[in-house]
Amino acid sequence: MNGNGTDRTDGNPETVIVGAGLVGAVTALYLAPRYGPVTLLEKRADPRREPGGQGRSLVVMLSARGWRALSDLGLADDVRRICVPLHARCGHLPDGRTRMTPYGRDGQPIWAVERRRLHHMLLDAAEATPGVRIRFGQRVRSVDLDEPAVLVEDRHGTHRLTCRRILGCDGAHSAARAALEARGARAEVRTLDLAYQEIDVPAGRLDPTITHFWPTGKAMFAAHPLPSGKLSGSLFMRLDGPAPSYAAARGGQDLPEMFTALFPELTGIIPDIAEQLAAKAVSTLTAVRCDRWVWRDTFALLGDSCHAMAPFMGHGMNCGFEDARVLVDCLDAAADGAAGLAAYEKSRTEDADAISLLSYRHYFTMANPPREQTAEEVLRGRLTALFPDRFVPLYERCAFTEESYASILRDDQRLDRLVADLLARHGTELVSAPDDRLRACTPSPISTTATLEDPGCS
Ligand SMILES: Cc1cc2nc3c(=O)[nH]c(=O)nc-3n(C[C@H](O)[C@H](O)[C@H](O)COP(=O)(O)OP(=O)(O)OC[C@H]3O[C@@H](n4cnc5c(N)ncnc54)[C@H](O)[C@@H]3O)c2cc1C
Repeated sequence: MNGNGTDRTDGNPETVIVGAGLVGAVTALYLAPRYGPVTLLEKRADPRREPGGQGRSLVVMLSARGWRALSDLGLADDVRRICVPLHARCGHLPDGRTRMTPYGRDGQPIWAVERRRLHHMLLDAAEATPGVRIRFGQRVRSVDLDEPAVLVEDRHGTHRLTCRRILGCDGAHSAARAALEARGARAEVRTLDLAYQEIDVPAGRLDPTITHFWPTGKAMFAAHPLPSGKLSGSLFMRLDGPAPSYAAARGGQDLPEMFTALFPELTGIIPDIAEQLAAKAVSTLTAVRCDRWVWRDTFALLGDSCHAMAPFMGHGMNCGFEDARVLVDCLDAAADGAAGLAAYEKSRTEDADAISLLSYRHYFTMANPPREQTAEEVLRGRLTALFPDRFVPLYERCAFTEESYASILRDDQRLDRLVADLLARHGTELVSAPDDRLRACTPSPISTTATLEDPGCS
């Protein structure tokens, strides 16, 4: 090692992955057996050696796409053992009522897992895989797309590592992405207007088999069960603007008062809430959109580095795991590396845009207490109930299938158009019409474009 930035021979790997987060580890596991030695470079210290995991208890939800990757990698059974299956979410409404919504109509669960434990398990699996090497305390400063090579800084200085391919899995504030931007890619990195604090919820007061959330319209508290029976909570509130917001909390001074006013029920459930609000960091949420993800046959982005999204659909990680699977599938199927990476980019960008949009939209569904439904919403609900195979709810398709997110979004937009068209043709009385009439009015097969043929119902 030398500190003057010259080359250092490092048993040059076939692939360098920048970032050993969840997506970096899964990508290494997919790649090494088929595409040769992989070195993961991680700027942080090994999280498995940190006592107490920095006090973080963030829970992430695993859905079908995540499970597909874990099954491919032979890890599904081990991961399932540290998960809690959740069949429904319970909204605790401001008027004291509760409203239970199953995640899937057939009782399918989604699976809650502590992000920290999942991460440790993936790092263990990656390290145990022949050809994978993880190096902690290695910050990638820049990426040379042409050679290709990375400039790495560690406690000894900087060195250059050459390889055949570089994969950027270094999260929303990706240094790897900058290399692509320098070649004309356009990236949007937005801090969302919402921030959050992780709050521990003690066991014993809430059902530990379902998700809980408290919508107030102005802020939301969500709590996900942990295997211990405790729950991992998150307070989501606006970053700026008038109260309630983090900005209006005067450096946290007014947070307990705000919290009590918003969530009176929770102050009894979390006795040390004031201490937690004072001690826990406020984290921001970042959204990333990037119009290019690859460079020739040398470089690709995966995970949050190219599609960080709001967390409310629970798909950032699942989508990142799917990136890794699709990337190796595309490389396997293509005649050469450049064609494989191009196919990967083509197949993923539209899907990432779609799930990012849906994720942000879902916050408003969850955060607002239910109000009287519009005619459009009632009609959508009735069509979904009447034609369960044709109109599968959007959340269910995202969570329990591996269908393209973009096609799910398109179908949802078509359903919107169908509803608008039915109301325009038949008036709002169709909303309360008997099932037979509604069935007869609904075109079949569902051609839900604006040019619907009227099936001639009476
Ligand atoms: C509140 C919240 C709830 C969420 N819930 C869910 C959920 O339920 N389901 C779901 O699927 N997703 C969820 N997500 C999203 C999920 O956590 C992310 O999508 C996922 O962690 C992204 O993984 P990643 O590996 O791409 O990025 P990261 O987790 O950000 O990992 C990037 C890694 O790269 C390292 N790194 C960064 N820069 C460099 C550098 N220059 N050199 C070397 N290393 C570097 C970092 O230290 C880090 O280890 C949630 C997110 C939040 C904030």
